[in-house]
Amino acid sequence: MPEYEAAIGMEVHAELLTGSKMFCGCRNAFGGEPNTRCCPVCTGMPGSLPVMNRRAVEHVIRAALALNCRVSPDARFDRKNYFYPDLPKGFQISQYERPIGIEGWLGIDTEAGPKRVRIRRVHLEEDTGKLLHLATGESAVDFNRSGVPLMEIVTEFPPDMRTAEEARAYLTKLRAVLTYIGVSDGKMEEGSLRCEPNLSVRPVGSAGLGTKTEIKNLNSFRAVYRGIEYETARQIGVLRSGGAVAQETRGWDDARGQTFTQRSKEVEQEYRYFPEPDLVPLQIDEEWVDRIRRAMPELPDAARARFVEQYELPPHAADALTQTRATADFFEEAALTSGDPRAAANWMIGDLARLLNASGTEITDSRVSPRHLADMLALMAEGVISGKMAKGIFEEMFATGVSARALADRAGPQVSDTAAIAAWLEEAIAAEPRVWQELCGGDTRKQGYFVGQVMKASRGKANPAEVNRVLRARMEGA
Ligand SMILES: [Zn+2]
Repeated sequence: MPEYEAAIGMEVHAELLTGSKMFCGCRNAFGGEPNTRCCPVCTGMPGSLPVMNRRAVEHVIRAALALNCRVSPDARFDRKNYFYPDLPKGFQISQYERPIGIEGWLGIDTEAGPKRVRIRRVHLEEDTGKLLHLATGESAVDFNRSGVPLMEIVTEFPPDMRTAEEARAYLTKLRAVLTYIGVSDGKMEEGSLRCEPNLSVRPVGSAGLGTKTEIKNLNSFRAVYRGIEYETARQIGVLRSGGAVAQETRGWDDARGQTFTQRSKEVEQEYRYFPEPDLVPLQIDEEWVDRIRRAMPELPDAARARFVEQYELPPHAADALTQTRATADFFEEAALTSGDPRAAANWMIGDLARLLNASGTEITDSRVSPRHLADMLALMAEGVISGKMAKGIFEEMFATGVSARALADRAGPQVSDTAAIAAWLEEAIAAEPRVWQELCGGDTRKQGYFVGQVMKASRGKANPAEVNRVLRARMEGA
């Protein structure tokens, strides 16, 4: 039986961080009361004329440069014609033949080493409205999102990615780049970053490509990874059993962990693209591009290298802390305020990441601030709280936003009192005399047991260094 491999391409849509929409002055923001941020232009009423948002164009040029693309000097807007209720004017303003950025690449790290994922195009278009399916069975449409500047980044064909792991690395890196250069907030759960992988499988070593499917409705990195894993296995299963993969768009059911047929794509949709007559072609001269290039901020790869160098972080930690601009900024502030970059990094990668993940919160919405973390590290360094107390305090800070010092005062200080620790130790010995004998007989693994018992008796407040000292003294005396 042949071994199969996947060929994975990706289309990523990113809503751009601008004050106003693409072709009108309506405010660009997420959510809000439906249909409170729209006007005749962004809903395409007859007689309305689009006015181009220069900042959105600059964002796309910035992204194109960060993704190693060439910038077209004569990019142009086209009308993409189709009828759908979220698009009242019957066409979307997009870019077809002459996108802003072409022929770029993004470097990712894979198990086999660094790899370049080629990018075919980066273009600018407008977002559509959003359909809402009501409990009454009716559908409604919210045009707040209509006309929001949207950037599309399409990987090269034939595709360069082979595994779900590579696809995740690409998406992670892309999000890092886009948030670093300030063009996107990278929030998948709010739909400001949307990803559609397409995937086909073929026998390893064969030159052609199999029939591909597209996966939609993925709204987390985890869903992208699982969706690709599932779809790869499904297509291999179809081929192994002698079947043929159907060319179709598939949805992702996160609860069931499965893709499902959404619509078949036997015929390519005919969009009847033609140049947008209400907008002049973009003249992007060298000087404009140079100005943007010179003002380009530090990119994630450079930030990662700097974190290793400047803060002496291990590469994997620097990698984790440069996945978004907000994470990196949080770290730098906590590192500089606390003077202990290593500890700040460890808490962020460990407890903070875990709590953010579990609660589905972005770091920008975290109640724990860099200052909070730095204060807590100071309390630990001063010996006011133990590592174990810090864990509890950190969780409370995360839940409430109350400062570490206030929480430490409430919890009471760490116990370094030798007499109290010795008393707890005696209780533990009395409860398990046999274990104590084993320890004294040379079974050092039992030491952890007694330290644990004392920590428990002190409700986590005993100073672990002091506990170990008392324990050793008692063993020598025993
Ligand atoms: Zn508008």
